[in-house]
Amino acid sequence: MKVSADGLSQRVAQEWFVNARRWYVEEHQGCPRCQGRHCVFRALWGSRVEYHCTACDFSAAHDEATGIFAANDGEATPPGVELVVDLTRTPSAPV
Ligand SMILES: [Zn+2]
Repeated sequence: MKVSADGLSQRVAQEWFVNARRWYVEEHQGCPRCQGRHCVFRALWGSRVEYHCTACDFSAAHDEATGIFAANDGEATPPGVELVVDLTRTPSAPV
């Protein structure tokens, strides 16, 4: 398994996911990143729940089966910090 789900990125991703879920519910599909409303869609992929903002391309996901969190702020990530901890089943994961 070559995916490195280190503690830091998982913690960051989890925070984004919790924020995304709260904004989705409390702010009418709001986005915790760009703070827009009616721009976030929730998707279910089996056991995986994903929130995606169409305005700023932010996304956050959680797989209940594996417990893995993933987040993507839609723009440049800090060097050395891989926010996208994706699963191997992703069809076209950017490298
Ligand atoms: Zn947004």
